[in-house]
Amino acid sequence: MMKDVCPICRGANQCGNGLPKEAGSCWCTDKVFPDEVFREIPEEELYKHCICESCLERIKKKK
Ligand SMILES: [Zn+2]
Repeated sequence: MMKDVCPICRGANQCGNGLPKEAGSCWCTDKVFPDEVFREIPEEELYKHCICESCLERIKKKK
């Protein structure tokens, strides 16, 4: 399982937790993830790795 790949679009998720950066420096740390996001992630991949920022923005715009 690729932890640096978005489970929704299979693009790079840019998660700081999977990159050689300081812990807690992921772009997602200060983002709000609505329930709709978790409904789009396949159940077997839920909570295993980050989605990407573009999917988060896309899902938020659908509301
Ligand atoms: Zn994505």
